[in-house]
Amino acid sequence: MIKRYTFDAIIVGSGGAGLRTSMQLANDGLKVAVISKVFPTRSHTVAAQGGIAAALANISEDKWIWHMYDTIKGSDYLGDQDAIEYMCKNAAEAIYELEHMGMPFDRNDDGRIYQRPFGGMTKNFGESSISRTCSVADRTGHAMLHTLYQKNIELNTEFFIEWVCLDLIRDEEGAVLGVIAIEMQSGELVIFHAKSTVFATGGAGRIFEASTNAYINTGDGLGMAARAGISLEDMEFWQFHPTGILNAGVLITEGVRGEGGYLVNALGERFMEKYAPNVKDLASRDVVSRAIATEVKEGRGIGENKDGVYLELSHLGEELIDEKLPGIRETSIKFANVDPVKDPIPVVPTVHYMMGGIPTTMNGQVRDTTHGNVVEGFYAVGECACVSVHGANRLGSNSLLDLIVFGRAAGIDVINRCKNNPLKKLPSNASDITIERLSLLEQGQSGEDPRAVGNEIRKVMQEHCGVFRFPELMEEGVKKIKDLRVRVDNLSISDTSKIFNTARIEALEVKNLIEVAEATIISASNRKESRGSHSRSDYPKRDDDGWLKHTVYNPLDKSITYRPVNLHPLTVDSFPLKERVY
Ligand SMILES: Cc1cc2nc3c(=O)[nH]c(=O)nc-3n(C[C@H](O)[C@H](O)[C@H](O)COP(=O)(O)OP(=O)(O)OC[C@H]3O[C@@H](n4cnc5c(N)ncnc54)[C@H](O)[C@@H]3O)c2cc1C
Repeated sequence: MIKRYTFDAIIVGSGGAGLRTSMQLANDGLKVAVISKVFPTRSHTVAAQGGIAAALANISEDKWIWHMYDTIKGSDYLGDQDAIEYMCKNAAEAIYELEHMGMPFDRNDDGRIYQRPFGGMTKNFGESSISRTCSVADRTGHAMLHTLYQKNIELNTEFFIEWVCLDLIRDEEGAVLGVIAIEMQSGELVIFHAKSTVFATGGAGRIFEASTNAYINTGDGLGMAARAGISLEDMEFWQFHPTGILNAGVLITEGVRGEGGYLVNALGERFMEKYAPNVKDLASRDVVSRAIATEVKEGRGIGENKDGVYLELSHLGEELIDEKLPGIRETSIKFANVDPVKDPIPVVPTVHYMMGGIPTTMNGQVRDTTHGNVVEGFYAVGECACVSVHGANRLGSNSLLDLIVFGRAAGIDVINRCKNNPLKKLPSNASDITIERLSLLEQGQSGEDPRAVGNEIRKVMQEHCGVFRFPELMEEGVKKIKDLRVRVDNLSISDTSKIFNTARIEALEVKNLIEVAEATIISASNRKESRGSHSRSDYPKRDDDGWLKHTVYNPLDKSITYRPVNLHPLTVDSFPLKERVY
């Protein structure tokens, strides 16, 4: 018999999204468990550098509706305007809430919260760049995650740390009743049975070879959802951050350009002036990444293979760099062997963020795209979810905001649900599939090596689904991923010991990678236009008549249907579609 734990609600993931949700529930006295495969403060949120956006107007005049406009434009009009209004309108309150919990934001001389400019954030509907991003030096995520963790400790949230969730449990009607998880320390399987299950499992940047993401970002939430027949939305949209360190992938925050840094090519030219004459280096990320890729393609790249560009910040001076960007100086010295106080940092566009994910309503409820309503008892928040506020391209510093605003919204909805609904009965076969998956893995030497197959998936995605996308390459990529799925089905581990068996965990993660990779490449080859981060050589223009719609990928038969974009905000007028120039 498998052991069973029962809770009102379980939250899978202890990054910013999971901890903001759990805080809401624990504060209301619910019995809540947070399950995480790493110690909570090691979740990827800890690595967020540049900041969190809100129109506080602490540097100059600002309005939430300008933030809303920038986010819609940044999304290349694919974001849902109701959800975007909700996020931007609630942003200031989210910041003050964090501040009151003790988050040590940087300050202006007058004592108010400091704000820095970020890409795509503008004044008065695109007039000029604006300072809207609140930060804690270049370690904002670190400060935020520790603040939220401390709050949860204060509220007695129960944590299951170094537990890995493997599968969702659904009943015959499709309701979600919890998860099956494995405790790494003992290798024991346990059923977590709950009225509400919230996924806050973060991104999946590790489906690519070069990524700014932590090694734990293997898309487990999406893998579990896909295996349980839940559709994934807008998976073709992946953000390449313009400035990952060349050959290392480690992130250099956009805050560097926010503080006045700029990009130059091998000829020493500030090339962003050509691509975004108005806001230059502070254009949105898809635009800057394509500009770098174009400079490289046309032979103006730097480095041994001429495949990067330089990020110059020495003119900012040592004092400012040490005060506002200390982590960047340290990272550059360690990973690029360059002290940015003296020399420019070699950088290259690197996979950073997944705009798509598990489709949800503004309350975090997972949409049941096959039956037209929501999946009972199932929620998703943070990077694993697609609300959709980021559409085809996320603006920097809008993700941390998304975690807090929608973590809270989901928390409120979960409380209502838990109070008004009984615990549903577990199906008798709740753990069968998981047990079978695990025993299949233990077939000894006869199967495929998980690490080799994982590396192959990353290589295919890197080569076939990059900054610029070519039709033949994508088609070839679809075939290669299909072949790799057969190999993933045949993975095996030779070490079958129970205690802290990381080989087993890695193999299970590869099974999630393939779900995310396949959803991504099929969705990408299907979308015949260029929008936001999805840029095709054969369809270089945005096509609103044909493609102003969300992709809904059904993992069971790999078919694609669509969901209309919501162009109707909650209280203000709709923002009409326009060509996107910066
Ligand atoms: C280097 C870097 C810098 C960034 N900087 C910024 C920034 O300045 N501003 C901004 O707005 N955004 C930034 N982002 C994006 C932003 O940080 C992320 O989108 C966000 O932190 C994701 O938070 P999350 O709570 O959804 O997930 P995460 O913080 O990634 O947490 C995921 C959690 O899920 C758990 N988990 C996953 N799978 C399982 C499983 N199978 N079982 C149990 N637990 C599981 C993990 O243990 C972890 O606790 C940055 C991203 C990176 C990579």
